[in-house]
Amino acid sequence: MLLIGSVSSFSAAQTREIAIPDVPGFVTLKCDFHMHTVFSDGHVWPTFRVNEAVRDGLDAISLTEHIDYEGFPEVVDRDYNKSYEIAREAADKKGLIVIRGAEISPRVPPYHNNALFLTDANIIPSEYMKDGKKKFVMKDSITHDELMGPFLEVQRQGAFVSYNHPGYAWWDKKDTAIFTSFHHELLEKGILNGVEVVNSGRYNILAHKLAIKYDLTMLCNTDEHYDMYPRYADSHRPMTLVFAKERSEEGIKEALFAKRTALYFGDYIVARQPEAEGLFKASVTATSKFEMRNGEPILKVTLENHSSIPFETMLKADYDVELFPLGQVKIPAKDSVEVILKSLWDYPAQVKLDVAVMNVLISPGEALKTDFILDSKK
Ligand SMILES: [Zn+2]
Ligand SMILES: [Zn+2]
Repeated sequence: MLLIGSVSSFSAAQTREIAIPDVPGFVTLKCDFHMHTVFSDGHVWPTFRVNEAVRDGLDAISLTEHIDYEGFPEVVDRDYNKSYEIAREAADKKGLIVIRGAEISPRVPPYHNNALFLTDANIIPSEYMKDGKKKFVMKDSITHDELMGPFLEVQRQGAFVSYNHPGYAWWDKKDTAIFTSFHHELLEKGILNGVEVVNSGRYNILAHKLAIKYDLTMLCNTDEHYDMYPRYADSHRPMTLVFAKERSEEGIKEALFAKRTALYFGDYIVARQPEAEGLFKASVTATSKFEMRNGEPILKVTLENHSSIPFETMLKADYDVELFPLGQVKIPAKDSVEVILKSLWDYPAQVKLDVAVMNVLISPGEALKTDFILDSKK
């Protein structure tokens, strides 16, 4: 047990496996839906991604090769199903779920989008390209149909489509429009389902606003092109937590379309209110014990954290929180903290403890608020 002080939330010496509890009614699956291998512009072989994911305790991954770019055309034949097939064979033996995906990556609206749960990545057209072998050259004039083509094809395949890293317009600094008329058209056609709020561990506040405004599923992916480990050696890899009815590809697909996700990066969680509260309540339990301390009625509250996520809380009750100014209490990962509520002179049967969780965001400007009802009978 730890009373006060900061403990490193995630020590690199510990296992890289991360404890995240299930929430009532659902299994919590750790997923990374955006990565690359040598089959587009990544620098690792597909089985490397499988081994990384198994090491990191993930449940599911997707290798989302650019359908319009080949990084190594002299040695790797163009085949956008191949990385899935190679990974799938290795992953099946290890219990890792691999989802067939691809990244549609024009440098004009609607920019980069991932399509997941594909049946054939090779028949997605990329007619807007002039040359995608070791360089990225689009046609001089591109038609709307050429850009819409791949989206209609992935829709035909029943894919889940997400807008990747919005605003990452390094190809055209002049274009500041993030959610373009093309995105609206994809929305209206029922093609666009999600948005990447965290890419490579970077939280994108504009993407978070888009997710809320357009009611899109929120995703957190690594978009890794190299070895994952050095970048996240002192932390954990960013991941999308999916609250699924079952641990299967179908279960993940259902949950993504139903928007049941939470984003876990650094020590932060970003989720909608129900998922944020469900995850926090599944992670932290509160128990209480009434005591007389030198004639003073107090309530000893133990907050126990079963997860690998440290929580930064602000506690408030009708009684004083002893020792923690402003009620600021850190509940360390896989540890517990004791808090004393002072002077229960009216001897209540129950005490409501209001909790704001400052590292769990339910919107760009709002931390999760919840409460514990504590038994305080004598
Ligand atoms: Zn991209
Ligand atoms: Zn990418």
